[in-house]
Amino acid sequence: MTEISEFEGVEVGDVTVEPLIMQSLQLVQSILPDMLLGVSKSTLIAALGISSSLLAMASAKCKLGAPPTDISPVTDSSGNLVLRCEHSPPHEWNYGSGARTS
Ligand SMILES: [Zn+2]
Repeated sequence: MTEISEFEGVEVGDVTVEPLIMQSLQLVQSILPDMLLGVSKSTLIAALGISSSLLAMASAKCKLGAPPTDISPVTDSSGNLVLRCEHSPPHEWNYGSGARTS
C-alpha cells in the first residue's frame, strides 16, 4: 500500500500520523464490502470521519492547485474508496495504489 505522502501532489505536514491514516483507511476499506450485508451507512460515515480527522491532523494537502486544499476520503460513484481534494475540478487518488484518477 502506498503512503499518502507518496501520492502525486500530496504533502503531509506530520508524517507521524500517517500510519494511523493508513489504518483508518484500511478500516473503511474493510467495511465497504459489508455495506451490501447490512452494515449501516452511519458506520461507514463514522469510519470516513475518523480518516478525515486524521488527514486534517496530519495537515495532508493537495498541492496540485493553488492554494493547497484539504484532502478527504470519499467513495466514488462505483463505491470505491478514493481520496479527493477540494480543488475545482477536484484531484482524486485511488486508495491503495495511490494512482491519480482525476
Ligand atoms: Zn487538488
